[in-house]
Amino acid sequence: RAKAAGRGTAIVFEEGMDMVVQDQHALEMDLKFALQRQEFELHYQPVVNLTTKAVCGFEALVRWRHPQLGLIAPNRFIPLAEETGIIVALGEWVLKRAAKDAMAWPDQIKLAVNLSPVQLRQGSIVEAAAAALRSSGLASSRLELEVTESVMLAGAQSREALETLRSMGIAIVLDDFGTGYASLSYLADMSFSKIKIDRGFIAHLPTHATSRAIVGAITNLARELDIEVTAEGVETEEQLLILKAAGCTHAQGYYFARPKPIDDVECEWNASVKPAVRPTQ
Ligand code: C2E
Ligand code: MG
Ligand code: MG
Ligand code: MG
Repeated sequence: RAKAAGRGTAIVFEEGMDMVVQDQHALEMDLKFALQRQEFELHYQPVVNLTTKAVCGFEALVRWRHPQLGLIAPNRFIPLAEETGIIVALGEWVLKRAAKDAMAWPDQIKLAVNLSPVQLRQGSIVEAAAAALRSSGLASSRLELEVTESVMLAGAQSREALETLRSMGIAIVLDDFGTGYASLSYLADMSFSKIKIDRGFIAHLPTHATSRAIVGAITNLARELDIEVTAEGVETEEQLLILKAAGCTHAQGYYFARPKPIDDVECEWNASVKPAVRPTQ
C-alpha cells in the first residue's frame, strides 16, 4: 500500500523499465486480492437492432475499481489475470454477476459475456456457465458468450467446451472479427451464432475503400451462412449509414451509448421505446 503514490507516478512517467516492471508487479499483487475485496464491477453497453432501432442486448464489460488508481480498463488487467490464472475466478464472477443483473431486464434482451481463451482451455467454463444460469435463473437462450479468433488455434478441449456450451442453448459469438487468424471457412465450420466486426474496420469505413469492401464481404458471407452480424465501435452517423447500406443488421458503439454501470442500464432498454437514446438523425 505504501507504494501507491509511486505506482501512480510510474504510470504517468514511464521512464525507467524498473518503474514499469515494479508497477506491473504491484498491480499483479493487488489483482490477487481484488476479487475478495469486491473491486470489480460490470458496465453494460447496448447492442442495437438497426432495423427496429431497438436495444436487443447488452455486453458486460468488466472494470477494476482500484482503491488508489481508480477505474482500470480491462485491456490493462485482463492479460495480467490471464498470466496469473486469476481470470478463471474473475470469469466465474463476471458470469454470475452478469446473469443476475440480466434477470432484471425484459426477456427479449440478451446478455453477452466475454470469455478468455484461458477460461476455455482450463476446462471449468462449462460448469461456470451452468452455475451462473442455475443461480440466476437466466434462460440459456438469453446468454451469448464472446470468443476471439484465437479459439480457432486452440486445442480440442477448447473446441469441445464450445460445443458443450452450444448444446446447452448458449450462443457463441465470434468477437473482433478480422483482427486475428480466422480464415473465412472457419466461419462455417465453427457454427457461430453471430460475428462482431472489429471496430478497426468500422473506424476506417468513411475513408478507406478497402474497409468498406471488407465489411461488405463479411456481411454478405454472414448472410449466406445465416449468421448475424454486429458492427463494433460505431461512433458516427456516417459509419452507421455505410453499415446499413452494406446490409449490417446490428451495431454497438459510442454513437448509441457508452458502457454504463448497471443502474443506468434500465434507462437504456426503456430507450428502445422512448426517443431519448435513439440515434439522433
Ligand atoms: P470487446 O469485447 O471487443 O469490447 C468492446 C470494447 O470496445 C469495449 O472496451 C468497449 O468499451 C469499447 N467500445 C465500444 N464502443 C466503442 C466505440 O464506439 N469506440 C471505441 N473507441 N470503443 C468502443 P473495454 O470495455 O475497454 O474492453 C476491452 C476488451 O476487454 C473487450 O473487448 C474484451 O476483449 C475484454 N473484456 C472486457 N470485459 C471482459 C470480461 O469480463 N472478460 C474477459 N475475458 N474479457 C473482457
Ligand atoms: Mg466483446
Ligand atoms: Mg470486440
Ligand atoms: Mg476488442
